[in-house]
Amino acid sequence: MELVEIGEVKSKFDEPLGPEEMRGSESVIEVYPEYEAGLTGIEDSKYIHVLFGFHLSDDYELVAPRRHGEKRGVFASRSPNRPGSIGSTVIELKERNGNELRVKGLDAVNETPVIDIKPYAEPFDSSGITEKERKQEPRKRIRELIERGDIETLLLEAGEVHGHFCPFLALGVLAGQYAVSKLESAVPGMEETVAIVETNSCFSDGIQHVTGCTFGNNGLIYRDYGKTATTVATREGSGIRLYLNREDLLEEDYPEGRELFEKVVKERNGTEEEEEKLKKVWRDIGFDLVTRSAEELFKIEKIDYPDIPDYAPIYEDEYCESCGEKFMAPKGVEKKGKILCRDCATEGYFQLDGSGLRKVTG
Ligand SMILES: [Zn+2]
Ligand SMILES: [Zn+2]
Repeated sequence: MELVEIGEVKSKFDEPLGPEEMRGSESVIEVYPEYEAGLTGIEDSKYIHVLFGFHLSDDYELVAPRRHGEKRGVFASRSPNRPGSIGSTVIELKERNGNELRVKGLDAVNETPVIDIKPYAEPFDSSGITEKERKQEPRKRIRELIERGDIETLLLEAGEVHGHFCPFLALGVLAGQYAVSKLESAVPGMEETVAIVETNSCFSDGIQHVTGCTFGNNGLIYRDYGKTATTVATREGSGIRLYLNREDLLEEDYPEGRELFEKVVKERNGTEEEEEKLKKVWRDIGFDLVTRSAEELFKIEKIDYPDIPDYAPIYEDEYCESCGEKFMAPKGVEKKGKILCRDCATEGYFQLDGSGLRKVTG
């Protein structure tokens, strides 16, 4: 097989720099004029896949210490020193000007030979799960991540829901992954699995993301005990409870983070730099925690018949005789012969809070 060079990279970097710096910069791919027509329509793609030659590397080792000092094979790494000397990367296409593509994120130095360009296409280039499969089973990918034990990716995604990365989000992800992978017949997000959270901290967002038990699908039960603990259970009656029994986890294992947290969040007494630093330290602790084992951090018990509420009840509708808005019938309040919504009545109402339907006031 012979490789064809179809163009060349124009970059301000003559020598390779750290990937973060290079991924943050713009460069240009100049496609040779004889191949320019092959770019027709490329501007419709926001992201493109680029294959290029590592023309500066000459030798490779099949197994070597990689980043973080860990020994890995060349095909299990992104090292530029490889037998085939081919690099591949997905980058943002900013603009096409004739035979020139202005791109962002290309980690290739000036004069790197380009071998191929193709549009980045979600189902082929990402997880390999097709759009059709995702429409049939929206949590298929998450389920696979749980089975594979890819807790880092689960944490990355949980951050999209939660808004930041922090130790307790990570602990929730870790606990959720452990519980779901140990439960037989757990079908996350389908009401067959229920998660009880004993705190409303960041921890519960990690649990929701991984278990698929949410407020909206009636799979999430909140018990206001203020404990970093969760029970994940199936309706068949088996469950697992995890309680964080390393109560001094932050003080002992991550003292820098703990001190910053006290200063910035608890005392609200941090400088802008300290706030930024906390964000970074907090995130690093989170990603470190998901490399640890749940058994080391949690007290874990098997629970045979956890107390879980029934399936989400389906109610008739009712219309409020004051504001005219529609609500679930049992939430109505009778006042002076009229059926009112709770808002208009501002009186006691029936609430389903996981402990059965009962009357509360407020
Ligand atoms: Zn958080
Ligand atoms: Zn009303």
